[in-house]
Amino acid sequence: MQVVRTRADLRAVLANAPRPLGLVPTMGWLHAGHVSLVERARAESATVVMSIFVNPRQFGEARDFEGYPRNEARDLAVAEAAGADVVFAPDVDEVYPSGFDTVVTVGAISRPLEGAARPGHFDGVATVVAILFALVGAERAYFGLKDYQQIAVIRRMALDLALPTEVVPCPTVREPDGLAMSSRNARLTPDGRIRAAVLHNALEAGAELVRAGAASGEAVRAAVRGALATEPGAVVDYVSVADPDTLAELETIDRRALLSLAVRIEGVRLIDNVLVG
Ligand code: AMP
Repeated sequence: MQVVRTRADLRAVLANAPRPLGLVPTMGWLHAGHVSLVERARAESATVVMSIFVNPRQFGEARDFEGYPRNEARDLAVAEAAGADVVFAPDVDEVYPSGFDTVVTVGAISRPLEGAARPGHFDGVATVVAILFALVGAERAYFGLKDYQQIAVIRRMALDLALPTEVVPCPTVREPDGLAMSSRNARLTPDGRIRAAVLHNALEAGAELVRAGAASGEAVRAAVRGALATEPGAVVDYVSVADPDTLAELETIDRRALLSLAVRIEGVRLIDNVLVG
């Protein structure tokens, strides 16, 4: 596995790399969710590139950026064991060199949910992913459905800007109690970690209602909120029952529904979702 740190070295290493090329963008602190993306990329690509870059432009609060867990030595070992051929681990100045002055803003699909809760977040995501797509020129890039809206935003961007990289959505990898794996879980105490199972349990309670034929979006949102309220440590940011294509809230559930939520446990902001139907 080769580790490269500059745009120029990345291009040089990939110039003659066997194709097709699969890209897995990450912010590090790798876990089984990231590994599943690399394994999928490995199965479909001759060369697998992982990026590890904690992108300051997608964080609202400096404290969140600074507190984001980092351990490069461990990440490189995990990436190699998972089957990555190349890791791109640049400094911030390499991704955003002096004079950098472009922002990629995706429209309506980026505005509700995470976009509303975290102003500027998807501008940061779309900008860094556009840079990665341009630098790597992969046939395919692999993203986790845990960040459902992120996939929708990146797909929109790739389509609109005619970027030739296909966006491949991959299933959410969960802990045995259902908690979606996330680098942020590392910031929970053992007690908070147990409490965090309420996110998945609440989504499942809502999904059960939908599967049983509930037609009112508001009733399902209320049921999810009710389930979250059983955990006093859970501070709700939003609960949504939305159209999976537009992310508009559903008044009547007459098609597939995306149930999603953002909840703080011990101040750590966690998100999860489930697609029903
Ligand atoms: P991150 O390092 O959190 O930016 O995530 C990098 C990629 O891994 C994104 O495409 C995420 O959606 C994906 N990912 C994060 N957690 C999981 C998970 N539990 N299961 C599957 N993919 C995940």
